[in-house]
Amino acid sequence: MTVTQLGMPKVFHGTGNIAAEESFTSFAGRELKNEQLRANLGFATHTIRDKRAKVVGELPDWELLRTAGSEIKQDVMARLPELLEQFEKNFTERGGKVHWARDADEANQIALDIIREQQAEEVIKIKSMATQETGLNEYLEENGVSAVETDLAEEIVQLGEDKPSHILVPAIHRNRSEIRDIFLKKMPHIDKDISDNPAELAEASRHHLREKFFRNKVAISGANFGVADSGTLSIVESEGNGRMCLTLPDTLISFMGIEKLVPTFQDLEVFLQLLPRSSTGERMNPYTSMWSGVTPGDGPQNLHVILMDNGRTAALADQVGRQALHCIRCSACMNVCPVYERAGGHAYGSVYPGPIGAILSPLLTGVEAEENNSLPYASSLCGACYEACPVKINIPDVLVHLRGKDVDAKHGKGEEGNKRQAPDQMDAIMGGAKAMFSNSTLLSIAERGLPAGGLAAGRDHKISWLPGLIGGWTKYRDIPEPPKQAFRHWWKKNKKNGPKQRAASDRVDVDALIAKNSGLAEELHRRHAGEAQEEREEAQEQAAELKKEQRREPDMVRREEDLLKGQDDSSNGTTGEGTSSQEGND
Ligand code: SF4
Repeated sequence: MTVTQLGMPKVFHGTGNIAAEESFTSFAGRELKNEQLRANLGFATHTIRDKRAKVVGELPDWELLRTAGSEIKQDVMARLPELLEQFEKNFTERGGKVHWARDADEANQIALDIIREQQAEEVIKIKSMATQETGLNEYLEENGVSAVETDLAEEIVQLGEDKPSHILVPAIHRNRSEIRDIFLKKMPHIDKDISDNPAELAEASRHHLREKFFRNKVAISGANFGVADSGTLSIVESEGNGRMCLTLPDTLISFMGIEKLVPTFQDLEVFLQLLPRSSTGERMNPYTSMWSGVTPGDGPQNLHVILMDNGRTAALADQVGRQALHCIRCSACMNVCPVYERAGGHAYGSVYPGPIGAILSPLLTGVEAEENNSLPYASSLCGACYEACPVKINIPDVLVHLRGKDVDAKHGKGEEGNKRQAPDQMDAIMGGAKAMFSNSTLLSIAERGLPAGGLAAGRDHKISWLPGLIGGWTKYRDIPEPPKQAFRHWWKKNKKNGPKQRAASDRVDVDALIAKNSGLAEELHRRHAGEAQEEREEAQEQAAELKKEQRREPDMVRREEDLLKGQDDSSNGTTGEGTSSQEGND
Protein backbone atom coordinates (compact mmCIF):
# COMPACT_ATOMS: atom_id res chain seq x y z
CA MET A 1 0.00 0.00 0.00
CA THR A 2 1.33 3.43 -0.88
CA VAL A 3 1.09 6.03 1.87
CA THR A 4 0.01 9.45 0.64
CA GLN A 5 0.88 12.43 2.77
CA LEU A 6 -1.67 15.22 2.92
CA GLY A 7 -0.77 18.82 3.77
CA MET A 8 2.65 20.18 4.61
CA PRO A 9 5.33 17.70 5.73
CA LYS A 10 6.25 17.82 9.42
CA VAL A 11 9.22 20.02 10.26
CA PHE A 12 11.78 18.24 12.42
CA HIS A 13 13.71 20.49 14.75
CA GLY A 14 17.07 19.48 16.12
CA THR A 15 17.76 17.76 19.42
CA GLY A 16 20.91 17.21 21.47
CA ASN A 17 23.42 19.75 22.75
CA ILE A 18 22.08 22.70 20.78
CA ALA A 19 19.65 24.06 23.34
CA ALA A 20 20.64 26.23 26.29
CA GLU A 21 19.51 25.39 29.81
CA GLU A 22 19.64 29.01 30.92
CA SER A 23 19.11 32.31 29.09
CA PHE A 24 22.19 33.93 27.59
CA THR A 25 21.68 37.08 29.66
CA SER A 26 21.70 35.39 33.03
CA PHE A 27 24.61 33.04 32.21
CA ALA A 28 26.69 35.85 30.69
CA GLY A 29 25.97 38.03 33.72
CA ARG A 30 27.78 35.48 35.90
CA GLU A 31 30.62 34.83 33.46
CA LEU A 32 31.40 38.54 33.21
CA LYS A 33 32.56 38.46 36.83
CA ASN A 34 35.24 35.85 36.02
CA GLU A 35 38.27 38.02 35.35
CA GLN A 36 40.65 35.12 34.64
CA LEU A 37 38.31 33.83 31.94
CA ARG A 38 38.09 37.26 30.35
CA ALA A 39 41.85 37.66 30.40
CA ASN A 40 42.39 34.20 28.82
CA LEU A 41 39.77 34.87 26.16
CA GLY A 42 40.97 38.38 25.40
CA PHE A 43 44.54 37.21 24.89
CA ALA A 44 43.62 34.13 22.83
CA THR A 45 41.09 35.79 20.53
CA HIS A 46 43.41 38.74 19.83
CA THR A 47 46.33 36.42 19.07
CA ILE A 48 44.33 34.32 16.57
CA ARG A 49 42.72 37.44 15.12
CA ASP A 50 46.12 39.00 14.40
CA LYS A 51 47.45 35.80 12.83
CA ARG A 52 44.39 35.59 10.62
CA ALA A 53 44.62 39.21 9.53
CA LYS A 54 48.25 38.70 8.51
CA VAL A 55 47.70 35.66 6.27
CA VAL A 56 44.44 36.96 4.84
CA GLY A 57 46.23 40.19 3.92
CA GLU A 58 48.68 38.18 1.79
CA LEU A 59 46.00 37.17 -0.70
CA PRO A 60 45.04 39.89 -3.16
CA ASP A 61 42.08 37.78 -4.31
CA TRP A 62 40.71 37.17 -0.79
CA GLU A 63 37.42 38.96 -1.53
CA LEU A 64 36.99 36.97 -4.75
CA LEU A 65 37.58 33.77 -2.78
CA ARG A 66 34.96 34.77 -0.21
CA THR A 67 32.47 35.45 -2.99
CA ALA A 68 33.26 32.10 -4.61
CA GLY A 69 32.80 30.31 -1.25
CA SER A 70 29.46 32.01 -0.70
CA GLU A 71 28.21 31.21 -4.21
CA ILE A 72 29.21 27.55 -4.03
CA LYS A 73 27.33 27.19 -0.76
CA GLN A 74 24.25 28.96 -2.19
CA ASP A 75 24.31 26.49 -5.06
CA VAL A 76 24.58 23.56 -2.60
CA MET A 77 21.57 24.77 -0.62
CA ALA A 78 19.51 25.20 -3.79
CA ARG A 79 20.29 21.64 -4.98
CA LEU A 80 20.68 19.85 -1.65
CA PRO A 81 18.40 16.81 -2.27
CA GLU A 82 20.00 16.11 -5.66
CA LEU A 83 23.56 16.48 -4.32
CA LEU A 84 22.88 14.28 -1.30
CA GLU A 85 21.62 11.49 -3.52
CA GLN A 86 24.64 11.89 -5.79
CA PHE A 87 26.95 11.67 -2.75
CA GLU A 88 25.14 8.58 -1.44
CA LYS A 89 25.44 6.82 -4.81
CA ASN A 90 29.15 7.54 -5.21
CA PHE A 91 30.04 6.75 -1.58
CA THR A 92 28.14 3.44 -1.78
CA GLU A 93 29.66 2.46 -5.13
CA ARG A 94 33.12 2.84 -3.59
CA GLY A 95 32.32 0.41 -0.78
CA GLY A 96 31.01 2.71 1.98
CA LYS A 97 27.63 2.59 3.71
CA VAL A 98 25.39 5.64 4.02
CA HIS A 99 22.97 6.04 6.96
CA TRP A 100 20.36 8.80 7.29
CA ALA A 101 19.53 10.31 10.69
CA ARG A 102 16.64 12.69 11.28
CA ASP A 103 17.93 13.91 14.63
CA ALA A 104 20.66 13.52 17.23
CA ASP A 105 19.07 10.46 18.86
CA GLU A 106 18.84 8.56 15.59
CA ALA A 107 22.45 9.42 14.69
CA ASN A 108 23.73 8.20 18.08
CA GLN A 109 21.69 4.99 17.87
CA ILE A 110 23.08 4.19 14.41
CA ALA A 111 26.66 4.69 15.66
CA LEU A 112 26.05 2.51 18.73
CA ASP A 113 24.62 -0.32 16.58
CA ILE A 114 27.74 -0.30 14.39
CA ILE A 115 30.05 -0.26 17.43
CA ARG A 116 28.15 -3.18 18.97
CA GLU A 117 28.45 -5.14 15.71
CA GLN A 118 32.21 -4.74 16.08
CA GLN A 119 31.99 -5.73 19.76
CA ALA A 120 34.04 -2.70 20.77
CA GLU A 121 33.93 -1.23 24.27
CA GLU A 122 36.19 1.70 23.53
CA VAL A 123 36.44 3.94 20.44
CA ILE A 124 38.86 6.69 19.44
CA LYS A 125 37.56 10.02 18.21
CA ILE A 126 38.65 12.95 16.10
CA LYS A 127 37.42 16.34 17.20
CA SER A 128 33.97 16.72 15.72
CA MET A 129 31.31 19.39 16.18
CA ALA A 130 28.62 17.04 14.81
CA THR A 131 29.19 14.45 17.55
CA GLN A 132 29.30 17.20 20.17
CA GLU A 133 25.96 18.35 18.78
CA THR A 134 24.44 14.88 19.19
CA GLY A 135 26.02 14.34 22.62
CA LEU A 136 27.59 11.10 21.34
CA ASN A 137 30.18 10.68 24.09
CA GLU A 138 27.60 10.85 26.88
CA TYR A 139 25.28 8.53 24.95
CA LEU A 140 28.00 5.93 24.41
CA GLU A 141 29.04 6.19 28.06
CA GLU A 142 25.47 5.42 29.15
CA ASN A 143 25.59 2.35 26.91
CA GLY A 144 28.87 0.99 28.16
CA VAL A 145 31.22 2.31 25.46
CA SER A 146 33.94 4.83 26.26
CA ALA A 147 34.92 7.38 23.66
CA VAL A 148 38.50 8.69 23.81
CA GLU A 149 39.06 12.19 22.42
CA THR A 150 42.42 12.29 20.64
CA ASP A 151 42.60 15.98 19.78
CA LEU A 152 44.72 17.72 22.42
CA ALA A 153 42.23 20.44 23.29
CA GLU A 154 39.28 18.04 23.31
CA GLU A 155 41.31 15.70 25.50
CA ILE A 156 41.83 18.54 28.00
CA VAL A 157 38.10 19.26 28.00
CA GLN A 158 37.23 15.57 28.40
CA LEU A 159 39.74 14.88 31.18
CA GLY A 160 38.69 18.07 32.94
CA GLU A 161 35.02 16.93 32.78
CA ASP A 162 34.36 20.28 31.21
CA LYS A 163 32.50 21.66 28.21
CA PRO A 164 34.10 23.16 25.07
CA SER A 165 33.79 26.95 24.84
CA HIS A 166 35.06 27.60 21.32
CA ILE A 167 34.57 25.73 18.03
CA LEU A 168 38.24 25.65 17.13
CA VAL A 169 39.91 26.04 20.50
CA PRO A 170 37.62 24.10 22.85
CA ALA A 171 39.88 24.66 25.89
CA ILE A 172 40.37 28.36 25.21
CA HIS A 173 39.14 29.14 28.73
CA ARG A 174 41.96 27.07 30.34
CA ASN A 175 45.47 28.31 30.98
CA ARG A 176 48.47 26.01 30.95
CA SER A 177 48.81 25.63 34.70
CA GLU A 178 45.18 24.47 34.84
CA ILE A 179 45.96 21.99 32.06
CA ARG A 180 48.94 20.65 34.01
CA ASP A 181 46.70 20.09 37.05
CA ILE A 182 44.15 18.20 34.93
CA PHE A 183 46.83 15.98 33.40
CA LEU A 184 48.34 15.21 36.82
CA LYS A 185 44.94 14.19 38.10
CA LYS A 186 43.77 12.12 35.15
CA MET A 187 46.83 10.56 33.46
CA PRO A 188 47.94 7.54 35.54
CA HIS A 189 51.52 7.21 34.22
CA ILE A 190 52.42 10.88 33.99
CA ASP A 191 55.72 12.20 35.41
CA LYS A 192 54.66 13.82 38.69
CA ASP A 193 57.27 16.55 38.25
CA ILE A 194 55.92 17.69 34.89
CA SER A 195 56.01 21.46 34.44
CA ASP A 196 53.46 23.58 32.61
CA ASN A 197 55.81 23.93 29.66
CA PRO A 198 53.73 23.43 26.46
CA ALA A 199 56.21 20.93 24.95
CA GLU A 200 56.14 18.76 28.10
CA LEU A 201 52.34 18.83 28.23
CA ALA A 202 52.07 17.88 24.55
CA GLU A 203 54.53 15.02 25.09
CA ALA A 204 52.50 13.71 28.04
CA SER A 205 49.38 13.72 25.90
CA ARG A 206 51.20 11.90 23.08
CA HIS A 207 52.28 9.08 25.43
CA HIS A 208 48.80 8.83 26.91
CA LEU A 209 47.14 8.47 23.49
CA ARG A 210 49.61 6.40 21.50
CA GLU A 211 48.63 3.07 22.97
CA LYS A 212 44.93 3.88 22.45
CA PHE A 213 45.52 4.51 18.74
CA PHE A 214 47.01 1.04 18.31
CA ARG A 215 44.55 -0.77 20.55
CA ASN A 216 41.20 0.42 19.19
CA LYS A 217 39.42 -1.02 16.18
CA VAL A 218 36.71 1.61 15.77
CA ALA A 219 37.18 5.34 15.13
CA ILE A 220 34.64 8.13 14.94
CA SER A 221 35.08 11.34 13.01
CA GLY A 222 33.19 14.33 11.71
CA ALA A 223 33.75 15.69 8.21
CA ASN A 224 34.66 19.15 7.03
CA PHE A 225 33.46 18.47 3.51
CA GLY A 226 31.71 15.77 1.50
CA VAL A 227 32.22 15.87 -2.26
CA ALA A 228 29.09 14.90 -4.16
CA ASP A 229 30.63 14.04 -7.53
CA SER A 230 33.14 11.54 -6.11
CA GLY A 231 31.67 10.46 -2.75
CA THR A 232 34.82 11.73 -1.03
CA LEU A 233 34.97 12.82 2.62
CA SER A 234 37.57 15.26 3.84
CA ILE A 235 38.95 16.33 7.20
CA VAL A 236 41.46 19.06 7.85
CA GLU A 237 43.39 19.11 11.10
CA SER A 238 46.58 20.29 12.70
CA GLU A 239 47.90 17.61 15.00
CA GLY A 240 48.00 14.35 13.04
CA ASN A 241 45.76 12.58 15.54
CA GLY A 242 43.02 12.71 12.92
CA ARG A 243 45.20 10.98 10.33
CA MET A 244 45.89 8.19 12.87
CA CYS A 245 42.16 7.71 13.53
CA LEU A 246 41.36 7.72 9.82
CA THR A 247 43.96 5.11 8.87
CA LEU A 248 44.63 2.70 11.77
CA PRO A 249 41.22 1.26 12.84
CA ASP A 250 39.23 -1.28 10.80
CA THR A 251 35.96 0.58 11.21
CA LEU A 252 35.41 4.28 10.61
CA ILE A 253 32.12 6.02 11.37
CA SER A 254 31.83 9.61 10.15
CA PHE A 255 29.09 12.00 11.26
CA MET A 256 28.28 14.67 8.68
CA GLY A 257 25.64 17.41 8.70
CA ILE A 258 23.74 17.31 5.39
CA GLU A 259 24.88 20.86 4.57
CA LYS A 260 28.58 19.94 4.46
CA LEU A 261 28.52 18.97 0.80
CA VAL A 262 30.34 20.65 -2.07
CA PRO A 263 29.31 19.73 -5.62
CA THR A 264 32.69 18.90 -7.17
CA PHE A 265 36.23 18.03 -6.16
CA GLN A 266 37.40 21.29 -7.72
CA ASP A 267 35.23 23.28 -5.29
CA LEU A 268 37.44 22.08 -2.46
CA GLU A 269 40.16 24.34 -3.82
CA VAL A 270 38.23 27.40 -2.66
CA PHE A 271 37.48 26.10 0.83
CA LEU A 272 40.94 24.70 1.46
CA GLN A 273 42.23 28.23 1.02
CA LEU A 274 39.47 29.96 3.01
CA LEU A 275 39.37 27.61 6.00
CA PRO A 276 42.95 27.47 7.35
CA ARG A 277 43.53 31.20 6.95
CA SER A 278 40.26 32.03 8.73
CA SER A 279 40.60 29.49 11.51
CA THR A 280 44.17 28.90 12.69
CA GLY A 281 45.71 31.73 10.67
CA GLU A 282 47.75 29.27 8.62
CA ARG A 283 48.31 29.25 4.87
CA MET A 284 47.42 25.59 4.63
CA ASN A 285 46.40 22.85 7.01
CA PRO A 286 49.21 20.62 8.27
CA TYR A 287 46.99 17.57 7.65
CA THR A 288 44.34 17.40 4.93
CA SER A 289 42.86 13.89 4.70
CA MET A 290 40.49 12.70 1.98
CA TRP A 291 39.04 9.25 1.56
CA SER A 292 36.82 7.82 -1.15
CA GLY A 293 35.57 4.38 -0.25
CA VAL A 294 37.38 1.20 0.75
CA THR A 295 40.77 0.10 -0.59
CA PRO A 296 41.51 -3.57 0.24
CA GLY A 297 44.44 -3.86 2.64
CA ASP A 298 44.76 -0.11 3.15
CA GLY A 299 42.91 1.85 5.83
CA PRO A 300 39.44 1.12 7.29
CA GLN A 301 37.63 -1.73 5.55
CA ASN A 302 34.29 -1.01 7.19
CA LEU A 303 33.31 2.52 6.24
CA HIS A 304 30.15 4.34 7.37
CA VAL A 305 28.85 7.87 7.04
CA ILE A 306 25.85 9.13 9.02
CA LEU A 307 24.14 11.99 7.17
CA MET A 308 22.47 14.03 9.85
CA ASP A 309 19.59 16.48 9.51
CA ASN A 310 18.90 17.48 13.14
CA GLY A 311 17.05 20.70 12.29
CA ARG A 312 18.99 21.60 9.14
CA THR A 313 15.97 21.13 6.86
CA ALA A 314 14.01 23.47 9.12
CA ALA A 315 16.84 26.02 8.87
CA LEU A 316 16.91 25.59 5.09
CA ALA A 317 13.22 26.46 4.95
CA ASP A 318 13.97 29.88 6.48
CA GLN A 319 14.80 32.07 3.50
CA VAL A 320 16.89 34.56 5.48
CA GLY A 321 18.32 32.14 8.04
CA ARG A 322 19.39 29.39 5.62
CA GLN A 323 22.72 31.14 4.99
CA ALA A 324 23.77 29.93 8.47
CA LEU A 325 24.12 26.51 6.81
CA HIS A 326 26.99 27.89 4.70
CA CYS A 327 29.17 27.91 7.81
CA ILE A 328 32.50 26.06 7.52
CA ARG A 329 33.12 26.27 11.31
CA CYS A 330 36.27 28.35 11.07
CA SER A 331 35.44 30.40 14.21
CA ALA A 332 36.66 33.71 12.75
CA CYS A 333 33.38 35.35 13.77
CA MET A 334 33.97 34.37 17.41
CA ASN A 335 37.46 35.81 17.49
CA VAL A 336 36.26 39.26 16.45
CA CYS A 337 33.06 39.39 18.47
CA PRO A 338 33.12 41.83 21.42
CA VAL A 339 30.24 39.99 23.10
CA TYR A 340 31.93 36.55 22.86
CA GLU A 341 35.22 38.00 24.06
CA ARG A 342 33.60 39.16 27.28
CA ALA A 343 30.92 36.54 27.92
CA GLY A 344 32.84 33.43 26.78
CA GLY A 345 31.49 30.38 24.97
CA HIS A 346 29.63 28.62 27.79
CA ALA A 347 27.10 31.45 28.06
CA TYR A 348 25.63 30.44 24.67
CA GLY A 349 24.46 27.10 26.11
CA SER A 350 24.68 25.24 22.80
CA VAL A 351 27.84 23.61 21.42
CA TYR A 352 27.87 26.41 18.87
CA PRO A 353 28.99 29.57 20.64
CA GLY A 354 29.63 33.10 19.40
CA PRO A 355 27.89 34.89 16.54
CA ILE A 356 27.30 31.74 14.46
CA GLY A 357 25.86 29.99 17.53
CA ALA A 358 23.53 32.94 18.15
CA ILE A 359 21.87 32.24 14.78
CA LEU A 360 22.50 28.54 14.13
CA SER A 361 21.23 27.14 17.43
CA PRO A 362 17.83 28.91 17.31
CA LEU A 363 17.47 27.96 13.64
CA LEU A 364 18.09 24.29 14.44
CA THR A 365 15.77 24.16 17.44
CA GLY A 366 13.27 26.73 16.14
CA VAL A 367 13.45 30.23 17.62
CA GLU A 368 10.18 29.65 19.45
CA ALA A 369 11.99 27.10 21.65
CA GLU A 370 12.35 29.03 24.89
CA GLU A 371 15.83 27.62 25.54
CA ASN A 372 17.35 29.54 22.64
CA ASN A 373 15.18 32.60 22.19
CA SER A 374 17.59 34.89 24.05
CA LEU A 375 20.48 34.07 21.66
CA PRO A 376 19.54 36.44 18.80
CA TYR A 377 19.91 39.29 21.30
CA ALA A 378 23.48 38.27 22.22
CA SER A 379 24.99 40.78 19.84
CA SER A 380 25.67 44.48 19.50
CA LEU A 381 25.08 44.15 15.71
CA CYS A 382 28.46 45.79 15.07
CA GLY A 383 28.94 43.69 11.91
CA ALA A 384 32.52 42.53 12.66
CA CYS A 385 31.41 38.88 12.26
CA TYR A 386 30.11 39.52 8.75
CA GLU A 387 33.35 41.16 7.68
CA ALA A 388 35.42 38.26 9.07
CA CYS A 389 33.28 35.42 7.71
CA PRO A 390 35.04 33.64 4.82
CA VAL A 391 31.72 32.64 3.23
CA LYS A 392 30.04 36.02 3.77
CA ILE A 393 27.26 34.92 6.10
CA ASN A 394 25.39 38.10 6.97
CA ILE A 395 25.04 37.26 10.66
CA PRO A 396 23.68 40.70 11.73
CA ASP A 397 20.87 40.41 9.15
CA VAL A 398 19.93 36.96 10.39
CA LEU A 399 20.05 38.13 14.03
CA VAL A 400 17.58 40.93 13.30
CA HIS A 401 15.38 38.52 11.36
CA LEU A 402 15.36 36.04 14.29
CA ARG A 403 14.58 38.81 16.78
CA GLY A 404 11.52 39.60 14.65
CA LYS A 405 10.51 35.93 14.67
CA ASP A 406 10.96 35.78 18.43
CA VAL A 407 8.70 38.82 18.92
CA ASP A 408 6.13 37.28 16.58
CA ALA A 409 6.29 34.00 18.47
CA LYS A 410 5.73 35.74 21.80
CA HIS A 411 2.74 37.62 20.43
CA GLY A 412 1.07 34.73 18.70
CA LYS A 413 1.80 36.12 15.23
CA GLY A 414 3.49 34.79 12.11
CA GLU A 415 4.45 31.22 11.36
CA GLU A 416 6.26 30.92 14.70
CA GLY A 417 3.26 32.15 16.68
CA ASN A 418 2.27 29.21 18.79
CA LYS A 419 1.86 31.04 22.08
CA ARG A 420 0.69 34.41 23.28
CA GLN A 421 2.13 36.13 26.28
CA ALA A 422 0.59 39.04 28.20
CA PRO A 423 1.87 42.46 27.04
CA ASP A 424 4.91 43.53 29.01
CA GLN A 425 6.73 46.82 29.65
CA MET A 426 8.53 46.63 26.32
CA ASP A 427 5.22 46.20 24.48
CA ALA A 428 3.85 49.26 26.29
CA ILE A 429 6.92 51.34 25.40
CA MET A 430 6.92 50.24 21.75
CA GLY A 431 3.13 50.73 21.46
CA GLY A 432 3.46 54.28 22.84
CA ALA A 433 6.40 55.09 20.55
CA LYS A 434 4.51 53.81 17.51
CA ALA A 435 1.48 55.99 18.30
CA MET A 436 3.66 59.05 18.94
CA PHE A 437 5.91 58.80 15.88
CA SER A 438 3.05 58.17 13.50
CA ASN A 439 1.09 61.28 14.55
CA SER A 440 2.77 64.69 14.32
CA THR A 441 0.29 66.35 16.73
CA LEU A 442 1.01 63.74 19.39
CA LEU A 443 4.75 64.08 18.77
CA SER A 444 4.52 67.85 19.14
CA ILE A 445 2.63 67.50 22.46
CA ALA A 446 5.21 64.99 23.71
CA GLU A 447 8.04 67.35 22.76
CA ARG A 448 6.54 70.05 24.95
CA GLY A 449 7.50 67.80 27.86
CA LEU A 450 11.23 67.98 26.97
CA PRO A 451 12.11 70.61 29.60
CA ALA A 452 10.86 68.17 32.26
CA GLY A 453 13.70 65.82 31.19
CA GLY A 454 16.10 68.43 32.55
CA LEU A 455 14.77 67.76 36.04
CA ALA A 456 16.07 64.17 35.87
CA ALA A 457 19.55 65.34 34.85
CA GLY A 458 22.27 65.92 37.42
CA ARG A 459 24.71 68.80 37.71
CA ASP A 460 26.79 67.17 34.96
CA HIS A 461 23.78 67.56 32.60
CA LYS A 462 23.41 63.80 32.23
CA ILE A 463 20.59 61.43 33.18
CA SER A 464 22.15 58.48 35.00
CA TRP A 465 19.10 56.72 36.39
CA LEU A 466 15.68 55.87 34.99
CA PRO A 467 13.08 53.45 36.37
CA GLY A 468 11.82 50.12 35.01
CA LEU A 469 12.89 48.59 31.74
CA ILE A 470 14.62 51.70 30.38
CA GLY A 471 16.66 51.64 33.58
CA GLY A 472 18.53 48.80 31.85
CA TRP A 473 19.94 51.46 29.51
CA THR A 474 21.01 53.94 32.18
CA LYS A 475 22.57 51.14 34.24
CA TYR A 476 25.49 51.13 31.80
CA ARG A 477 25.26 54.47 29.95
CA ASP A 478 24.28 58.09 30.59
CA ILE A 479 21.69 59.95 28.57
CA PRO A 480 22.53 63.60 27.76
CA GLU A 481 20.14 66.17 29.22
CA PRO A 482 17.39 66.82 26.63
CA PRO A 483 17.28 70.28 25.01
CA LYS A 484 14.87 72.83 26.48
CA GLN A 485 13.03 73.10 23.23
CA ALA A 486 12.37 70.79 20.27
CA PHE A 487 13.67 71.93 16.89
CA ARG A 488 10.21 72.16 15.34
CA HIS A 489 9.06 74.57 18.10
CA TRP A 490 12.21 76.61 17.70
CA TRP A 491 11.75 76.70 13.93
CA LYS A 492 8.16 77.79 14.16
CA LYS A 493 9.27 80.78 16.18
CA ASN A 494 12.37 81.62 14.18
CA LYS A 495 11.60 80.80 10.58
CA LYS A 496 10.63 84.38 9.80
CA ASN A 497 14.29 85.31 10.38
CA GLY A 498 15.56 82.50 8.14
CA PRO A 499 16.55 82.70 4.43
CA LYS A 500 13.81 83.68 2.01
CA GLN A 501 12.47 81.12 -0.43
CA ARG A 502 13.94 81.52 -3.90
CA ALA A 503 11.72 82.88 -6.66
CA ALA A 504 10.83 80.40 -9.39
CA SER A 505 13.02 82.32 -11.88
CA ASP A 506 16.07 81.85 -9.60
CA ARG A 507 15.71 78.10 -9.37
CA VAL A 508 17.94 75.69 -11.28
CA ASP A 509 16.51 74.43 -14.58
CA VAL A 510 16.81 70.72 -13.82
CA ASP A 511 15.75 69.58 -17.31
CA ALA A 512 18.43 71.72 -18.96
CA LEU A 513 21.04 70.38 -16.55
CA ILE A 514 20.11 66.78 -17.36
CA ALA A 515 20.26 67.48 -21.11
CA LYS A 516 23.69 69.07 -20.73
CA ASN A 517 25.13 66.13 -18.82
CA SER A 518 23.48 63.36 -20.78
CA GLY A 519 25.93 60.65 -21.78
CA LEU A 520 28.36 61.69 -19.03
CA ALA A 521 27.23 58.94 -16.67
CA GLU A 522 27.66 56.21 -19.31
CA GLU A 523 31.11 57.52 -20.14
CA LEU A 524 32.16 57.47 -16.46
CA HIS A 525 30.72 53.99 -16.04
CA ARG A 526 32.68 52.70 -19.07
CA ARG A 527 35.88 54.23 -17.75
CA HIS A 528 35.41 52.70 -14.27
CA ALA A 529 34.58 49.28 -15.71
CA GLY A 530 37.85 49.35 -17.69
CA GLU A 531 39.85 50.34 -14.61
CA ALA A 532 38.17 47.65 -12.49
CA GLN A 533 38.98 45.02 -15.13
CA GLU A 534 42.63 46.09 -15.13
CA GLU A 535 42.71 45.92 -11.30
CA ARG A 536 41.17 42.44 -11.36
CA GLU A 537 43.74 41.18 -13.84
CA GLU A 538 46.55 42.68 -11.78
CA ALA A 539 45.16 41.02 -8.61
CA GLN A 540 44.95 37.65 -10.36
CA GLU A 541 48.56 37.93 -11.57
CA GLN A 542 49.72 38.80 -8.03
CA ALA A 543 47.73 35.88 -6.60
CA ALA A 544 49.33 33.47 -9.08
CA GLU A 545 52.80 34.80 -8.21
CA LEU A 546 52.12 34.41 -4.50
CA LYS A 547 50.90 30.83 -4.91
CA LYS A 548 54.11 29.99 -6.75
CA GLU A 549 56.07 31.48 -3.84
CA GLN A 550 54.08 29.53 -1.29
CA ARG A 551 54.68 26.26 -3.11
CA ARG A 552 58.36 26.92 -2.77
CA GLU A 553 58.13 27.61 0.92
CA PRO A 554 55.44 25.44 2.57
CA ASP A 555 54.54 26.55 6.06
CA MET A 556 54.35 23.26 8.01
CA VAL A 557 54.64 24.43 11.56
CA ARG A 558 55.31 22.03 14.41
CA ARG A 559 51.83 22.27 15.68
CA GLU A 560 51.41 20.82 19.11
CA GLU A 561 54.21 22.83 20.69
CA ASP A 562 53.03 25.96 19.00
CA LEU A 563 49.51 25.38 20.25
CA LEU A 564 50.36 25.63 23.86
CA LYS A 565 52.98 28.36 23.45
CA GLY A 566 52.22 31.55 25.26
CA GLN A 567 49.46 30.15 27.43
CA ASP A 568 48.66 31.85 30.62
CA ASP A 569 50.84 31.49 33.64
CA SER A 570 48.18 32.45 36.09
CA SER A 571 50.53 32.39 39.02
CA ASN A 572 52.48 35.23 37.41
CA GLY A 573 49.31 37.00 36.40
CA THR A 574 50.13 36.80 32.68
CA THR A 575 47.71 35.45 30.12
CA GLY A 576 48.02 32.94 27.30
CA GLU A 577 46.37 31.65 24.18
CA GLY A 578 44.48 28.64 25.51
CA THR A 579 44.67 25.45 23.50
CA SER A 580 44.23 25.65 19.80
CA SER A 581 43.68 22.45 17.91
CA GLN A 582 42.08 21.89 14.54
CA GLU A 583 39.20 23.16 12.49
CA GLY A 584 35.75 22.62 13.89
CA ASN A 585 35.28 19.36 12.04
CA ASP A 586 31.61 18.88 11.64
S1 SF4 B 1 29.83 31.95 10.50
FE1 SF4 B 1 31.50 32.36 9.07
S2 SF4 B 1 33.12 33.15 10.42
FE2 SF4 B 1 31.66 32.15 11.79
S3 SF4 B 1 32.40 30.05 12.03
FE3 SF4 B 1 30.96 30.02 10.31
S4 SF4 B 1 32.21 30.32 8.47
FE4 SF4 B 1 33.46 30.94 10.21
